[in-house]
Amino acid sequence: MQDLLARIEQLEASAKRLEPDAGARKAIRDKVIAYTEDFLERIEDIPTFNYDHNGGMGLNDSPITDEPLSLDNTLELVHKEVDTPALNPASDGHLGYVPGGGIYTSSLGDYMADVTNRFAGVFYASPGAVVMENMLIRWMAEMVGYPTDCGGNLTSGGSIANLISIVTARDKKKMTGAAVEKGVIYASAHQHHCVDKAIRIAGLIDCQLRHIELDERYRIKPDDLQQKVEADKAAGLTPWLVIASAGTTDTGAIDPLDHIADIAEAHDLWYHIDGAYGAFFMLTEYGREKLKGIERSDSLVMDPHKGLFLPYGSGVVLVKDLEAMQESHQYDANYMQDTVDYDEEVSPADVSPELTKHFRGMRLWLPLKVHGLQPFRDGLNEKILLARYFRNEILQWERMEVGPEPELSIVFFRYLPETGDANAFNKKLIRFVNQEGGVFLSSTTLDGTFVIRLAALAFRTHKHTIDKALYALREGIRELTAQPEFSAAT
Ligand SMILES: *Cc1c(COP(=O)(O)O)cnc(C)c1O
Repeated sequence: MQDLLARIEQLEASAKRLEPDAGARKAIRDKVIAYTEDFLERIEDIPTFNYDHNGGMGLNDSPITDEPLSLDNTLELVHKEVDTPALNPASDGHLGYVPGGGIYTSSLGDYMADVTNRFAGVFYASPGAVVMENMLIRWMAEMVGYPTDCGGNLTSGGSIANLISIVTARDKKKMTGAAVEKGVIYASAHQHHCVDKAIRIAGLIDCQLRHIELDERYRIKPDDLQQKVEADKAAGLTPWLVIASAGTTDTGAIDPLDHIADIAEAHDLWYHIDGAYGAFFMLTEYGREKLKGIERSDSLVMDPHKGLFLPYGSGVVLVKDLEAMQESHQYDANYMQDTVDYDEEVSPADVSPELTKHFRGMRLWLPLKVHGLQPFRDGLNEKILLARYFRNEILQWERMEVGPEPELSIVFFRYLPETGDANAFNKKLIRFVNQEGGVFLSSTTLDGTFVIRLAALAFRTHKHTIDKALYALREGIRELTAQPEFSAAT
């Protein structure tokens, strides 16, 4: 017995090192804050993409052991191996893919959520956390014109949000067993690949996937959708799901949401909209006009870590039919018997694959409370205008082939060299621009043609960022057209 108590005492002394006292907390915190402040102070000078690195491999030279490493050395490792290589998504110059955010107040929400560690999975454990998440879901439901008694969940991102939608749709439409092979899903070839992934994970890979024809602006052609659905029905197949985009990743195209809703209604299809990129433009008057019909979908995905400028780790799914969402995700177990049901609030665990999860409400709620909505609206309107400004500028350049006026905030374009391969030229042009470090652009392939994209969505992106992009592009074109490969023989 004495031995036991002595041993416990010994272990306690060691285990208690995990609970630094107020003085020790301050010492650690000050250093961490100093690190992040230094990052924010230098943010303009850190290259948006740093090609000069060894891939963070130095982390492997510092193995996890029983002994601690000094905080200074630890932060040095983070600086060198994590925050220096490759893409800096916190940069104003991140104009590639669909940029993310990183507003500071959200990081403090995470900090609070982590220190208090509320259990946000079930109402019984933390009613406040669950009410916060649910009121945020109702706020977003109202924003997009959904009824406020819809289902919803704060997810880790758009991919999981899409998965939850597809799984709910599958179960509601009874797409199981033999039905799967007769089932038909309709989507654009420009739908995000995470939707294809969700279809596979949901066990629906044996459904027919029909790619609907796109118009000249890469939007679904409703007539083609209608014809395909009718032909499939006539052939004895079971059309059950149509997926549209409220802003595609490739070109920012918005499918004709209202028109697709008519077809979905007429043929009793589950109508899913992926608005991971575009749905938060519903905060703007322009967006509400553009996204008309979004409210007629059965399920919708939106990404606060894109359109609401939050740091990575926040997606949202809304499903009109709450019961269907619960049907697919609500489970019980003996060891959960104390978690009394409350009818008035839905527990996040009952509408998602997760039980224990990060308390994501706080990272979203705190910034909305601290800033109010206006700067978010204005930031989104600003991004729309920045994309137009960029396009107006390059439209005036010779030999620029420029995509249409952006529906939201993505512009695509390419330079046509006098001679030589245009695809090769534009690949080199991107590399030139990105190597300059001020901005980062990405590309896509449209009908076999390599095009450069500029996506304005990072909250730090302002006019001076677009001017940096214009400058780097002009320099790149000047440099490359001087190379023999691309200059016409004289
Ligand atoms: C980013 C994106 C996704 C994927 O969302 P994640 O948050 O990256 O998981 C899905 N669809 C569209 C249109 C996107 O832009």
